[in-house]
Amino acid sequence: MPNNRSNTRIKQLRKQLEVYNHQYYVLDEPLVPDSEYDRQMQELVALEKKYPEFLTSESPSQKVGGKAINTFKQIIHSLPMLSLDNVFDKQSLIDFVNRVANRVELQEKQINALAFSAEPKLDGVAVSLRYERGILTQGASRGDGVRGEDITHNVRTIANIPLRLMIENPPDVFEVRGEVLIPHQGFAELNILALKQETKLFANPRNAAAGSIRQLDPAVAASRPLKFYAYGLGTVEGVQLPNSHVDRLQLLAEYGFNPSPGTEKVSGIEGCVQYYQQILKNRDALAYDIDGVVLKIDDIQLQKQLGFVSRAPRWAIAYKFPAQEELTRLLNVDFQVGRTGAITPVARLEPVFVGGVTVSNATLHNADEIERLDVRIGDTVIIRRAGDVIPQIVNVILDRRPDETEPIHFPDACPVCDSELHSVENETVIRCTAGLFCPAQRVEAIKHFSSRKALDIDGLGDKIVEQLVAEKLISSPDDLFTLSKSALISLERMAEKSADNLLLSIEKSKQTAFNRFVYALGIREVGEATALSLVQHFGCMDHIIKASFEELIEVDDVGPVVANHIIDFFKEPHNVDIVQRLLDVGVSFSETTEIADKSALPFSGQTWVVTGTLEIMTRQQVKERLQQLGAKVAGSVSKKTSFLVAGANAGSKLTKADALGITVINEADLIERFNQLEFSHEETD
Ligand code: NAD
Repeated sequence: MPNNRSNTRIKQLRKQLEVYNHQYYVLDEPLVPDSEYDRQMQELVALEKKYPEFLTSESPSQKVGGKAINTFKQIIHSLPMLSLDNVFDKQSLIDFVNRVANRVELQEKQINALAFSAEPKLDGVAVSLRYERGILTQGASRGDGVRGEDITHNVRTIANIPLRLMIENPPDVFEVRGEVLIPHQGFAELNILALKQETKLFANPRNAAAGSIRQLDPAVAASRPLKFYAYGLGTVEGVQLPNSHVDRLQLLAEYGFNPSPGTEKVSGIEGCVQYYQQILKNRDALAYDIDGVVLKIDDIQLQKQLGFVSRAPRWAIAYKFPAQEELTRLLNVDFQVGRTGAITPVARLEPVFVGGVTVSNATLHNADEIERLDVRIGDTVIIRRAGDVIPQIVNVILDRRPDETEPIHFPDACPVCDSELHSVENETVIRCTAGLFCPAQRVEAIKHFSSRKALDIDGLGDKIVEQLVAEKLISSPDDLFTLSKSALISLERMAEKSADNLLLSIEKSKQTAFNRFVYALGIREVGEATALSLVQHFGCMDHIIKASFEELIEVDDVGPVVANHIIDFFKEPHNVDIVQRLLDVGVSFSETTEIADKSALPFSGQTWVVTGTLEIMTRQQVKERLQQLGAKVAGSVSKKTSFLVAGANAGSKLTKADALGITVINEADLIERFNQLEFSHEETD
């Protein structure tokens, strides 16, 4: 780029980044995702490196954070609170380590043995706590690194910040630095409250934490689920400190703080890379957001030798994870009809790489969400994909709205069968009222009926069901059992052999378990666990069909809403007909007429989680066996988990169970337990 054009671009980037900084640091309302900010910052840094004549100390690349707000008393940090330099790939990490090695003249062997304190990069806000003779006297935000805001009144309300150091002879001055954050659950609860109170939603946990510690009224901070994790020290007087950063964190634990969880001492570049990969793998299992790992030279003498540049220490680096939020464009919105008739708007996006995959669709949930986001076709949107969660549009960049955008119109009639739509008061979902007369619902009902956890019809893929319904060869689940070979062969790409195999699987699926059968019917909100509870409680199909509201709410897992769904389902004569026709075509399972007492079952009251690859049983078999024994089987590990069954390559669930001290058992132990129990499960088989 010629010089003057580069200078113009540099000025543009600085101006833009200053706006982003103000929105992010001062107003706690970011305009763009971090990935976009980081890209622009990297471009600026690269240009300033290429054209050093344009570099000024006023550039956002040279400064820390944002300005402290005047509403608070200002505090001058006795030692500046710096930021961190970032890298996004392994090569840049290697370059960082080599720069360190050159500066302090390390040989290759020494580089390989170089000790790092490896820590998760907590995505909250930096805070400095000052203790004088053991008493908390001051809490300060980072501000611009030199001047912060006095937030003592708020930090005092954070439950895991000690008001007094937990040691006998406290040092004269002891400054602790760390991150204040809000865990996921607390964040979700805050936003539910905000929705109820019709106040503004928080964009993410980081902004919610930043907003919470910068409140004038400490009662607000006290009501927010804030946590503090310590990762370093500021000014310290009157105590001899260890020369290792990791040992200093250990000391912080002894003084009564929670040091950054997951910190480890690692060696050399390989140690750092392995740590990064391990934390990245477990990222989704953590209770709070992290956006990378921080790698710090562990030896404090070496840290001192390396010193600082304008905004960051030379002895530490943030190795950032791939972004979970990205920018893309909304191309169109389709309306899909689900099994229960719910109409879901699905956003079609310009493909974008986010959360480790390329995303081109996202859910827009419902009409209220479209209105809340004020999103239009053609808009630039922020898309978020974290873990296995379905990608979502979290915000619209109004600044980038083109002149021609199209509003999104929720359809007036079912987009598939043109039937009337129905919305229930207090429910956000709008439904097609046609039930199984709607081809889309028919397809979804049959897909559900034959799915793995229901009748498990091997070889009956989604595409085949769609064709069968489109060709009017079937219209309800029981029709599957009267399908002929010639009908199947008439389908696209269905060879004779596949047709034979499919007919065989259909025949095989007739022998099923009672609870699978109830689940397969697709009653709203009757999942696997509820189906099992119904079966165990009522013992036979006829009782379930005829059960009254009062009888239904006696069942575990069945509340008034589900009870009404069950009643509504069997009130429809064609649903009862389908049950009868299924039994007539030979679908069978043994029923018990006795009412099973679930609380007498050996695993009753226990919550189990199954993870990893099992060798002998399938996960589904284990799950069903556990449920038959009275256990509740959950999808994720929490404090309520009683046992985790871990097979090979168990990942984040195992890590979380270990952290929570939950008993972990392997498959062999589990089978041993099953065998010991001599439990007869005839009632459900
Ligand atoms: P940073 O967040 O990238 O790194 C420095 C900070 O990391 C420290 O101040 C500290 O608070 C934190 N940290 C977490 N765990 C730590 C640990 N174990 N040890 C030490 N520090 C730890 O830098 P920053 O200067 O706070 O912010 C810059 C970043 O903020 C950008 O890269 C961008 O991602 C984001 N940002 C976004 C926008 C936006 O508009 N979206 C605007 C400004 C900044």
